[in-house]
Amino acid sequence: MTKHPALDISSVHANYGGPSVINDITFSVMQGETYGLIGLNGAGKTTLLKTILGLKLQSSGSISLSSFAAGSAQAKKEVGFLPERFDPPWFLNAYEFIDFTMSLYGRKAVREEIDSMAVKLGLNVAFLPKRAQTYSKGMRQKLGLMTTFLTGCPLLILDEPMSGLDPLARAQVKSLMIEAKKEGRTIFLSSHILSDMEELCDRVAVLHSGTIRFIGKPSELLASSGC
Ligand code: ATP
Repeated sequence: MTKHPALDISSVHANYGGPSVINDITFSVMQGETYGLIGLNGAGKTTLLKTILGLKLQSSGSISLSSFAAGSAQAKKEVGFLPERFDPPWFLNAYEFIDFTMSLYGRKAVREEIDSMAVKLGLNVAFLPKRAQTYSKGMRQKLGLMTTFLTGCPLLILDEPMSGLDPLARAQVKSLMIEAKKEGRTIFLSSHILSDMEELCDRVAVLHSGTIRFIGKPSELLASSGC
């Protein structure tokens, strides 16, 4: 079966009113791929993700998600997004937050599905009916991750998904990503940490000072950097 790009980025530049912070970015993520975006602090990862999601306009170039233009209603239905430093509304409990998010996609999650996802991520089910205000930082992150996976979207974009998680939770998130890949879903994630990418990603792109410096398999990146 021929695979098509789930995400296609062509000659994209973006800025915040001054010089470009991402410059001439071109790459594609194929359907079913797990693809990592690696870069140091300030490299432009979040800016690129915001541009892909249509939350920020590029100054030139084009982006499509499953052949729909970034920011269009059709493209938004394709993608589940976990932002960096995710923080749910403090006054909602997990069920309410998930119900609200799913309603934006015109979908519903049943309780059993939500509870089972919480167990997979090591989030105590007894906390799900409690307000997010009572959650620790890691528990909030887990709620964000659960919700993103539960959307059922074919493309998942995760900005620093392991941030704030302990080693057990990191392993649980990795298992969830591997499961999603087996279901044929496409995952595009950002991280500073190459070892996470090595385990999970089919390919990685390295972004440095707003420019792509490398695209290839994690093993090729390690070999080229002499690690
Ligand atoms: P980190 O790993 O630290 O989250 P990042 O790779 O996600 O970094 P970005 O947040 O995309 O990097 O930032 C890229 C550049 O754009 C930085 O120089 C930053 O100062 C600048 N920048 C980001 N957001 C804004 C903004 N809202 N207004 C002005 N400049 C911004």
